[in-house]
Amino acid sequence: MVRSEQKPLEEILGYLEGSKKVFLLGCDGCAQASGTGGWPQLKEMKEKLEQNGKEVTGMMVVDFLCQKALVASHLKPVEDQVMASDAVLVMTCGIGVQASAAMIKKPVIPGCNTVPLGGTRGEWRGSERCLECGDCVLYWTGGICPLTACSKGLLNGACGGASNGKCEVDRNKDCGWERIYQRLKEIGQLERLKKFIPPKAYNKMRPKGEILVSSLWALEQKD
Ligand code: SF4
Ligand code: SF4
Repeated sequence: MVRSEQKPLEEILGYLEGSKKVFLLGCDGCAQASGTGGWPQLKEMKEKLEQNGKEVTGMMVVDFLCQKALVASHLKPVEDQVMASDAVLVMTCGIGVQASAAMIKKPVIPGCNTVPLGGTRGEWRGSERCLECGDCVLYWTGGICPLTACSKGLLNGACGGASNGKCEVDRNKDCGWERIYQRLKEIGQLERLKKFIPPKAYNKMRPKGEILVSSLWALEQKD
């Protein structure tokens, strides 16, 4: 289970500035369980966006958005609606947003923050990873997480040590910031690199109090 919380509407509308037409993408897995990205939340978001002058070209909920094959197969029948949009708003965890961004040649916008539950999450098949930082920055990085794709977790660009696109920490790994640059170039959003991403608030990377008292993690802490 990966838990997510919807971002404030103002933040989402800020990301959608300049995008009139929006496609909504949800997840029937953890996001549905979190109450952030199932059909009811997509329908609510559609109403809110329309009230704010946006046009929703279509909606789709994928069984598990963290599986790229499922993203591709679910979106195939609605490809026209996706391609008619200026941006795709993805209402799920950071892994689902990253998997979606890898499969869709459109700007992909995170509609949620992934919040920590404590303990260790299950592994998933793809290469996408999320540190559950509680304040998702995937909009600025084209849907590639700088905390996990960069070996040093740098938030504001490359360290300068990459060689032929490979990371200086691990030459078998592609440089995360090289990937971010190429992705932003591909979707015509290189200007996002000018945004300064502030240091992470590490208190958001700890489970909240109400989660601590209700999760298995809390039980493990008892004597
Ligand atoms: S920025 Fe990265 S770690 Fe933070 S929520 Fe998004 S995907 Fe997860
Ligand atoms: S080479 Fe790239 S991925 Fe590696 S630490 Fe530097 S910026 Fe990060």
